[in-house]
Amino acid sequence: MTAPVAVPAGVPAGARLVLATHNPGKLAELRAILGAQPGLDLDEEALVTAAGVGAAEPVEDGVTFAENALIKARALVAATGLPAVADDSGLAVDVLGGAPGIFSARWSGRHGDDVANLRLLLAQLESVPAEHRGAAFVCAAALVTPEGLEVVRTGELRGTLLTVPRGTGGFGYDPILLPEGETRSCAELSAAEKNAISHRGTAFRALAPDVVRVLAG
Ligand code: IMP
Repeated sequence: MTAPVAVPAGVPAGARLVLATHNPGKLAELRAILGAQPGLDLDEEALVTAAGVGAAEPVEDGVTFAENALIKARALVAATGLPAVADDSGLAVDVLGGAPGIFSARWSGRHGDDVANLRLLLAQLESVPAEHRGAAFVCAAALVTPEGLEVVRTGELRGTLLTVPRGTGGFGYDPILLPEGETRSCAELSAAEKNAISHRGTAFRALAPDVVRVLAG
């Protein structure tokens, strides 16, 4: 007789995949991307978040987006026994050698202070002319399974940094990134328009077939 598989406390019985985010927007985006994958039938209860299972956030002490995404996904696998998906993202500015990069959320010194982060970056780039204001939002999305499979896929949204913020949508550095070929900043795009071209959307879409294979197997 096989022993029943223990489901850690806090993990719903129907859960099959856990996502390392406390952000309902990311959950909805991943659900939509996975929902569009042929061969994947993921019902409401199957996809849960770190918050939904009460998992603590690990210390993100990696030095790349990929390392931090893997740290978050591995921690969730350890906490839940389920396959986990995590992402890490930020803004990489060409003339700053890729900074703020993994420090994007705390560039001004206070974690998550979007206005202060954006102001500081604009001040640092004040004398940089338009032709040298290239930058990209970068995202690494990681899938880790209890069996030890680890896959990382990346996505980029390249553009130019404006000198004055534009638009009221989005978050973070959205008001100053003008995507290539666009006349509007990321903060002037609708959520659907941004998701269609975003670094996160690209990384999640690239990872989706790996998730399908894991859940099908
Ligand atoms: P996280 O990986 O979602 O925690 O993002 C880290 C930080 O990178 C955020 O706090 C933002 O400052 C910046 N960032 C990441 N993605 C975006 C985006 O799509 N728009 C604007 N800022 C972003």
